[in-house]
Parts: sequence; structure tokens; C-alpha cells
Amino acid sequence: MKGLSLVTRHSSLAPCPVLIGGEWRELRGMDSSPVYNPSRGEVISEVPMCGAAVVNDAVTAAADTFPAWRDTPPVERARLFFRYRQLVEENFERICQLVTREHGKTLAEARGSIYRGIENIEYACGIPTLLMGDTLENLARGVDCETMHQPLGVCVGITPFNFPAMVPMWMFPLALACGNTFVLKPSEKVPLTTVFLIELLEKAGLPKGVLNVVHGGRECVDALLTHPKVRAVSFVGSSPVAKHIFETGTRHGKRVQANGGAKNYIVIMPDADVPRTVEALSTAAFGCAGERCMAGSTAITVGAAAERMLPSLVEAARAIKVGPTDVEAQPDMGPVITAQHRDRVMSLVESGEKEGAKIICDGRNVRVTESPNGFFIGATIVDQVQNEMTLAREEVFGPVLNVMRMEDLDRAIELANKSSYGNGTAIFTNSGKAAREFKHRVKAGMVGINVGVPATMAMFPFTGWDDSFYGDLHIQGKEGVQFYTQQKVVSTRWFSDGVGDVWKK
Ligand code: NAD
Repeated sequence: MKGLSLVTRHSSLAPCPVLIGGEWRELRGMDSSPVYNPSRGEVISEVPMCGAAVVNDAVTAAADTFPAWRDTPPVERARLFFRYRQLVEENFERICQLVTREHGKTLAEARGSIYRGIENIEYACGIPTLLMGDTLENLARGVDCETMHQPLGVCVGITPFNFPAMVPMWMFPLALACGNTFVLKPSEKVPLTTVFLIELLEKAGLPKGVLNVVHGGRECVDALLTHPKVRAVSFVGSSPVAKHIFETGTRHGKRVQANGGAKNYIVIMPDADVPRTVEALSTAAFGCAGERCMAGSTAITVGAAAERMLPSLVEAARAIKVGPTDVEAQPDMGPVITAQHRDRVMSLVESGEKEGAKIICDGRNVRVTESPNGFFIGATIVDQVQNEMTLAREEVFGPVLNVMRMEDLDRAIELANKSSYGNGTAIFTNSGKAAREFKHRVKAGMVGINVGVPATMAMFPFTGWDDSFYGDLHIQGKEGVQFYTQQKVVSTRWFSDGVGDVWKK
């Protein structure tokens, strides 16, 4: 297959191809955007910024294939994903290397994210059972009733840069398994992993046109959101864009699920186990260089917790080795996605400092001699952050942990609940009573009790609240199936007179 040489082709800066109606096309002569290896600061590919014409071709291809795909039995659709799962397993390390190359995650982080993606494929393999409806015999005399879950038509997936494989895999396996056709628009910062994932899906037997890939930014997205043949839009990205997607998509009659950004609070009680909490907090704050919507970006220490915890936390943060991730000897933490993003993270830290917060571990001056042009910033801890500071309010999306100190659990919950976001949160404690109080009152969709990153797995929905989610039905799990299907309720009555009465004879 032509596409499987992609990784090689991209070393020569060929434009990243689109997939329309089963044909990979390299579009030239249109605006493009560079794709970087953030570990080196080098451009490794170009991605075309598609507009309405390319989008129309992709949506039309998806719409044309919908009738045949819809009528493919769910067991056959499931078999595609059994074969796909096998191919993803076989190409596991290659996918991880691609993620590492264009995103900068460490290989260990890439592997973890691909496992989460594979679980979504496995979930989609269960589609014959997931699509089963209910029946009630004799709803009224001689009338039976049944529900059916039918696909919507053309669905669209728009994904962010921070999980180049996992987030697309949250979407297309389930959407396709439900019988929809699809147009995927990956982040223009990390398009190469998506292309490879879809090449593997073709190898597994994807019929032409059932899934199409386009690239671009706002213009491309807006063309998808307003296309009359698009029925539903799944989005993951920052909150302002999520809001725009939800408003524009719903205004044009689409079903929309739009996951946004986050600011996740981790409450640490004075009775928390110190070594385990420090380890979990360090992973939550600095894992994936803080570029996770479930990053534990603010620790709220209660009472004596700050004194008990902070010295070991600072020690752990200082020990985090930062470096390029496209090498055999892996660092603990890789770069952030772009130079602009690194500068934004640094300026947010600086704003906190100017407003009176104390930097107790400073990653801004990190020097990575083996790769001086990479987009690096080291683990940073900012203590005594106040809620009025920009640093406290804005999503930083970098390896920066804010520490806010509170006297008791009530005030800690009150502070966490002031956030406009509501993605994830966690408490570290040995008290069942404190944990119960916290999970009952805290305002967030995913809650961890002694779990720093309570991100849900494929069988559970990814339940952000407030500015972390716009829509009704979340991504993943049974809600995901509901999102990608519409219900039909059929009431049946058969008349007992005439030629049909054979059983009476
Ligand atoms: P982003 O919002 O900049 O981009 C996401 C997607 O939207 C990309 O495909 C991009 O091309 C497109 N886009 C960007 N600007 C647009 C615009 N003005 N109009 C239409 N489309 C536009 O997000 P990002 O920087 O790629 O990803 C990081 C963000 O994603 C963070 O805020 C993070 O918290 C969030 N995120 C959320 C979740 C979740 O499940 N809640 C998961 C992962 C990432």
C-alpha cells in the first residue's frame, strides 16, 4: 500500500496527504503549516490547510458510502475492528515513535496513550451487543414494541495536538462501528500519526470512503461545521474553540459533543501518605510535560499538608530529567509542542511571580545541551498562588504546578468549585469521611480518590463539566454509543383475520 511508506516520505517534507473516497492525495499549491519535531525544533512535514472545496469532497465521499456501510451487519463492522486491533498491536512501537516524533511525549507516555486508544477499539468490537435494543411484548393487546439504535450518517472528528493517536481513537472506532461514515480532521500540529493509524485501518479492510481525512485550521473546521450533509461533530480541544464548535455546529443543526480545556485541582489533606502522594502529584502535574486536559495543575494543600509534602515534591521535580524523546536513552520529560507554547507557559509563570507568588522549583532556565533548539521547559512549582492571579485561572498546559494553601477541606472545595472548568479533580487522604465529602460536593466530572489522573477508560464516558464540555452526550462508553446513534421505537400489530390465520386451522 502506498501510504505505508509515509514515514519515509515525510522525511523529504512531502505534504501530509488527505484521504478522500479511499484515495490518498498530496495537495499542493495551497497554504500549508509546518509540522515540527519539538525535541529538535525542526520542521519534519508540511500540512495543507484545506478549505471548503476539499471538505466538500470528503463529506460527499462519506455521504455516498453511508448507505452501504449502514447496511453492513454490526458483526461485520466489529470484525473490521478486531483485525484493526491486531494491526495496531503489531505496529505498536511504530505508532509510539510517530507520536514521540511529532508531539514530543516520551516513549513510555506514548505507549500509555496507545493502550488507552486500543481499549477504545476493543470497546468498538463489542458493537453488536452495544447496539441491542429493548423489546416489550404486549405493550397493548396484540401490540409489541421494540427500540432500535441506528447510525446518524456522516460524523466528523476534530482533534487536538496533545494525544495524536488516543483522541482520534476515542472517536472513529465507535462512530464507524455504530454504522456512521466519518471525516477526521486531526490537529495540524500532529497529523502524521493519524495518517498512519488510518492506513492501518485500510489494511484491516476499511471500505473506500467510509473514513476520510482532511487537514487544516479554522477555515477547514468551519466548512465541516456548516456542511449540510454532516450530522454530528465530536471535538476535543481548548474551551474557546469548543464553545465555537458547539455554537456553530448546533446552529447548523448538528449534534455536537465538544470537550474543552481544564484546570484540575488536587486537594491534599494533612493525613495523606507523603511518598505516594508526592509520586502521584508529580506524575499528574509533569507527566506529558503538563500537556494533558487531566493534568493536576493546582495542588490545594490543607493545613499542615504543605509543610509535610512540599520539600519532597520539590526534590522530585528537580530530579526530572528533561530532554529529547526521539532517542534511545529516554528522558523523564520531553518538550512542549512549539516554541510559542513554551514562551506562553514561561510568561504565565512570570506573571505569577510578578503578582507575588513564589517559585520554589524553576524550570524556565533548563538547558538541554544535546538539543539546543528543542522546545523545553523544566518542571516548575509555584507556591502561594492566589485565585485572582492569571496563573491561577488560565489553563497553562505545561509542566507547571501551582500550590494554593487552605485551612480546611471546606475552603479547599470552595476554592476548587470557583473554577469555570470542571474536568477532573482529586483528593489525597486517608480519611473516608473527607473523601466522601469531597466526591459529593466537588464540581467536576471526573473525581480521583488517591488517584492523581482520574481519566476514564473506554467503557466509561469522559465526563467533563462546565467550560470543559459543551454538549449533552460525552465521548466514550454508552454515552458515546448514544451520541453516534439515533433511536427508533417500533410498535407492531399484526391483524388476525384473513389469510394470515393459518395457525387456527
Ligand atoms: P485547539 O483548540 O487549539 O485545537 C483543537 C482543534 O481545533 C485542532 O484540530 C485545531 O486545528 C482546531 N482549531 C483551532 N483553532 C480553531 C478555531 N479558531 N476554529 C476552529 N477550529 C480551530 O487545542 P489544542 O491546542 O490542539 O489542544 C490543547 C487543548 O485541548 C487544551 O485546552 C486541552 O485541555 C484540550 N484537551 C481537552 C481534552 C478533553 O477531553 N477535555 C482532551 C485533550 C485536550
